[in-house]
Amino acid sequence: MTTCNVKTTRPTTRLTTKQRREYRPLLIKYYGHVCFYCKDEFIDEKHTIDGYKNGYLENYDHLNCIESDNRIENIVFAHVKCNQQKKDYSDYQIKAKEQLEEKEDAR
Ligand SMILES: [Zn+2]
Repeated sequence: MTTCNVKTTRPTTRLTTKQRREYRPLLIKYYGHVCFYCKDEFIDEKHTIDGYKNGYLENYDHLNCIESDNRIENIVFAHVKCNQQKKDYSDYQIKAKEQLEEKEDAR
């Protein structure tokens, strides 16, 4: 299974603003501008929805859950909520793993 629930001891380097700017058009071209997991669109005009924190904001997810692995093959768009749900949903974890393997094979 994935390493989502395992804290790595390696220092993490977050995806930089520059990387996000470079990746964004490529990700949109490849996946469309939707959440990789639930395929819904992003809603970012409100910070809260019905009093809850907006879980539909655009977020970048690392397919293998290693936050220092910023190769574009490892990055997808995902809702904040779906990114969090991935920790508990094996379906999402499997989907992520398969996608990363497919991308790595295609190189
Ligand atoms: Zn989603």
